Amino acid sequence: MSAAIASAFSVAATAKARPFNFSPGPATLPLAVLEQAAAELTDWHGTGMSVMEMSHRGVHFEQIFEQTLADFRELMAIPDDYAVLFLQGGAVAENAIVPLNLMGRGVGADYVLTGHWSIRSAAEATRYGPVHVSAHNGLPLPPELTDIAANHNADAPAGAYLPDPAQWRLHEQSAYLHLCANETIGGVAFNDWSAVWPALPADLPVVADMSSEWLSRPIDVSRFGLLYGGAQKNIGPAGLTLVVIRRDLLGHAHAHCPSAFDYTQQADQHSMVNTPPTYAIYLAGLVFAWIKAQGGVNAMAARNQEKADWLYGAIDASAYYRNRVVPAARSRMNVPFTLPDAESTTRFLQEAQQVGLYNLKGHKAAGGIRASIYNAMPPEGVRALVDFMQDFERRHG
Ligand SMILES: *Cc1c(COP(=O)(O)O)cnc(C)c1O
Repeated sequence: MSAAIASAFSVAATAKARPFNFSPGPATLPLAVLEQAAAELTDWHGTGMSVMEMSHRGVHFEQIFEQTLADFRELMAIPDDYAVLFLQGGAVAENAIVPLNLMGRGVGADYVLTGHWSIRSAAEATRYGPVHVSAHNGLPLPPELTDIAANHNADAPAGAYLPDPAQWRLHEQSAYLHLCANETIGGVAFNDWSAVWPALPADLPVVADMSSEWLSRPIDVSRFGLLYGGAQKNIGPAGLTLVVIRRDLLGHAHAHCPSAFDYTQQADQHSMVNTPPTYAIYLAGLVFAWIKAQGGVNAMAARNQEKADWLYGAIDASAYYRNRVVPAARSRMNVPFTLPDAESTTRFLQEAQQVGLYNLKGHKAAGGIRASIYNAMPPEGVRALVDFMQDFERRHG
């Protein structure tokens, strides 16, 4: 056993330390955040109340809410003409809520399919209006999308690349174009937005699923019409869904859109059409403060790039581990890889668990291994994983 693994193991074995949790979501949170939440659990700032027990319209929660919102806006550099909504229902609910709010702007919507989540988004949207598949990357599509799928030119294995934006088929009257910034299962990401913008008309609102991408690196919000995603990968606990929407896109909700999911009503009422997920918002606020203390999103991005480089470097340096995604589209957040056979994969997972490296099993649709290395995964966790992989290969490869 290498020194780094031995030390990770002994750290994991002491009473205070924790294993490294590579779960895709809900995912690991910064220990400092959890400790602060624990310290404040029964009495927030001398109020004699837990945040869980406070009125969402009371003065204390209002302070938490406003600070959380301000920090999120600052970290994301969100322009003033965008509303930020704290909702519930997760990204899967947004798959319906987005078309319910936006499709009324035009005739149908364009979808770019790059993996499990964007395919699911498009399939759900077909229930609310015409969906055009502008491009896909060769993965099998469900029946409701198969008939409308654009041709694709495979230049890499299915699901392992991004379709070239210059080839996307755009439909003139589409209300928006939807894509998934980071495919959490396939490990395929839009790493270079500058390759996307020249291919799109300026007046076509781009809607992005940011669930596993939030705050992992700077993005130019002003290029997007709408960003949405759950909190439970990079922001906080499950239960909070964040939406960032350019205000001129408000006002088109379908008559049957539930009021709690009507962006216009939620924007007018500061996300308080009904009770928002107060405790999840509080925890997200602690995470935002933690990110700011780490140096902000730029510092996160540098750290995330370094972590991803170590892991992909170890995979590429070995003939034993394999990641099939083309380098330009490799996710910095979710790194799927395979071992030569199922038996080694099972043994890898068992031994990893024994040295304090948890939740590395790939998604059931993909198999293999997946390491999710969001903002809160410390570099030491990725170091320990890489050391373990090299040690495992030496012993079993
Ligand atoms: C996790 C995830 C989802 C699903 O989110 P829910 O909160 O379970 O609805 C959707 N899209 C992406 C990209 C994800 O990572």
